[in-house]
Amino acid sequence: MKVTLRTDVLTNNNKAAEFNRELFESTKTLVINLMSSPGAGKTTLLEETVRALSEKYRIAVIEGDLATERDANRIRSMGAKAVQINTHGGCHLDARMVAAALGEFDLDEIDILFIENVGNLVCPSGYDLGQNHKVAVLSVPEGNDKITKYPQMFMRTELVLLNKIDLLPYLDFNVEEAKQDLSEINPQSVLIPLSARTNEGLHEWFSWIEGAYNRCVQQ
Ligand code: MG
Ligand code: ZN
Repeated sequence: MKVTLRTDVLTNNNKAAEFNRELFESTKTLVINLMSSPGAGKTTLLEETVRALSEKYRIAVIEGDLATERDANRIRSMGAKAVQINTHGGCHLDARMVAAALGEFDLDEIDILFIENVGNLVCPSGYDLGQNHKVAVLSVPEGNDKITKYPQMFMRTELVLLNKIDLLPYLDFNVEEAKQDLSEINPQSVLIPLSARTNEGLHEWFSWIEGAYNRCVQQ
């Protein structure tokens, strides 16, 4: 019975994801689903991204959290449109929650939509939201063993942003080992080391977004 229920849930999720994807395609909106464990720095990274790119692109953000409006408020204070989804205990966003939140936006007026998923390295990667790209954020204090311990996340994401590299001198994170582990789990995946705090490496993330946006509108 459990298996039947789970399959049913995923089928509905896939239908909702298709609905979202068609909407994103018809409005030429680049959509990035950002995932990480809690505290990896997704919101700070998005604040810096909005700050740097909002003159060039019209950016919106969907914030997924168990509770509170705090992260959406942080993004709004940077001048971007943000909608908060509270999952009330749910540990991931699903495509139907995103579809419901899309009613708050005019996608014709948006170039790039970031979806900040609920902080959790386990199940968010298993839910298609209709996004163009799944991106994982890993932070230096978490340790480089997370890539091999949570392989599903890193198998399903095409880019890993290694955040908080300003802390590398104080912690035992081995960047080369992380790159090696990632290339074994997912040879297509790219790792960009950066710090949302010092802005080191952010330009690489911004040019990745720019490339993705150009491909998205040319389709
Ligand atoms: Mg956040
Ligand atoms: Zn979950």
